[in-house]
Amino acid sequence: METTKTMAKEPKPNLRLPKLSQADVSFASVWLQPEEIANDQLHMSSGILQRTLTGLKKRSAGWRESGAIWAGDLEEAQSTVREVFFYHDLCDDLGRALSLELSEAAKFSLYRELAARGLKLVGMIHTHPKDWVELSYIDQANQLCSRIGFWSLVVPYYAKREWDINTAGVHIRISQGWHRFSPSEAAERIIIK
Ligand SMILES: [Zn+2]
Repeated sequence: METTKTMAKEPKPNLRLPKLSQADVSFASVWLQPEEIANDQLHMSSGILQRTLTGLKKRSAGWRESGAIWAGDLEEAQSTVREVFFYHDLCDDLGRALSLELSEAAKFSLYRELAARGLKLVGMIHTHPKDWVELSYIDQANQLCSRIGFWSLVVPYYAKREWDINTAGVHIRISQGWHRFSPSEAAERIIIK
């Protein structure tokens, strides 16, 4: 009973302190660009982008997530895609409405193939069911590559719709996790030729 009395006497938090609005906080944390990725760009041909999107759409078939890995060249902050590897070609991707997987065995055999062919891991791309294109906690924890500057794109609507950089989620690995580019910034960072 004494405890209850003591606790009741504790001062209430001052609710009149000025606060940053929640919108300001999330805006700053989402779009503020870390210096370490100030110059990063991802280059690819329209042919390889279309091949990637067609493969994802076909595999997703309107009901499950699908994914692919991009490999190619790294030259300082400039990454160039030369080759695409689909999860479902590398292993049973266990694609479901809200998830997919890349087995450890598939990862290591991919690493070996890339090393043999002189290709570097550039990024990955996967589909989500609707317009939400953030990285889920599982996506963020994906340990395919933790190099600063590794790209991770998310395509909405299981890649059924026409490619539009404004609706895609464009993320890049930074030392503190992942950074998502704003749509206008993403258009400057993803170079399709
Ligand atoms: Zn995801």
